[in-house]
Amino acid sequence: MLPVSEPLLEGNELNYLRDCIDSGWISSGGTFVARFEQAWAEYCGRTYGVAVANGTAALQLAVEALSLAPGDEVVIPSFTIISCALAVLRAGAKPVVVDSDPETFCIDLEKIASAITPRTRAIMPVHIYGHPVDMDPLLELAERWGIDVIEDAAQAHGSEYLLGRGGQEVWRRCGSFGTISIFSFYANKIITTGEGGMVMTNREDLAERCRSLRNLCFQSRRFYHEGLGYNYRLTNMQAAIGVAQLERIADLLERKRRVGELYDKLLADVPGIELPRKRDWARINRWMYSLVLGDEIALDASEFAIELRARGVDTRPFFMGLHEQPIFRSRGLFENTRLPVAERLTRRGICLPSGPTLTPTQIEAISGTVREVVVSALRIRPDQRVRQWG
Ligand SMILES: *Cc1c(COP(=O)(O)O)cnc(C)c1O
Repeated sequence: MLPVSEPLLEGNELNYLRDCIDSGWISSGGTFVARFEQAWAEYCGRTYGVAVANGTAALQLAVEALSLAPGDEVVIPSFTIISCALAVLRAGAKPVVVDSDPETFCIDLEKIASAITPRTRAIMPVHIYGHPVDMDPLLELAERWGIDVIEDAAQAHGSEYLLGRGGQEVWRRCGSFGTISIFSFYANKIITTGEGGMVMTNREDLAERCRSLRNLCFQSRRFYHEGLGYNYRLTNMQAAIGVAQLERIADLLERKRRVGELYDKLLADVPGIELPRKRDWARINRWMYSLVLGDEIALDASEFAIELRARGVDTRPFFMGLHEQPIFRSRGLFENTRLPVAERLTRRGICLPSGPTLTPTQIEAISGTVREVVVSALRIRPDQRVRQWG
């Protein structure tokens, strides 16, 4: 079976891990955590990085650091991971979901304005599958309404956005936008620590709050607390892997680029499928190669996945929109919400194997399998279509 993604751990990972074992620093003490925080913050163009146990915890701390009140609202895309809504709910606030752009799959900027109310305190853009959200209008909207931006860059390591279009243009890395941003370093992300995440900000007060929440809100006097914290610490061993991964990020991104470009070439003339699109103001990290099955294909995404699996190709389904999640519906959230783009993506979208270890031969085999399954499932064969129209 060709897996969706495998990490590549061929740099200094083992050397640095051995340092941890040899020195005995295997918990969150030791030097690698601070090294990783500084190096990743610098890479992303941020002042502070606070390493945590995973991306979900990072989102939770990011939202909590903003001290929302009950009834406050945070605008999020529906088409994203549940972690985004969980972070808002756990902070006692209310997630308000917005539909996606059908081509970038990211939150639809046109639809954000109508989701904003006097209770809105923040917007959470998510760079889906590594394609940046259109940040210029989003930041402008946030500024106009005086609300915070929580940037979920968990899929966007190394992706860049052209800020200030038409004026002072500058390419900026994802993770550098808004009040506070987060990353995940889960095993299938561009760089990984196994499990891990980071909160990033330029504001000292928010960084300090996240550091405190991460570590049980210990004060300078230990075992004395003025806040309700968590143990969301990252270990020195995980950070050691992160430091080694970051040393190799250019190579990892280059591998992803090659995978994406070869798929683009091999799948370009397969009828009935929509390949990933990219806006001119975006440089994408090609994190996951995503397809959308057109209506002329008589299989939905889950049936398509079964066909590929039977031929030895593993895939990942797209997100299921948060507004369709049974857990939220059963709690009366998002009642009567219909978001046609997110609903279509859920039913028609599929991610192909995209790992950094894929060889051209494997990509050719996967593309051939995709073509075979698509062609056998077309409602109208291309040759028939020519006859009909001819
Ligand atoms: C992976 C991911 C997360 C959560 O990260 P974990 O480390 O798995 O908890 C959050 N948001 C997005 C968009 C992600 O892809």
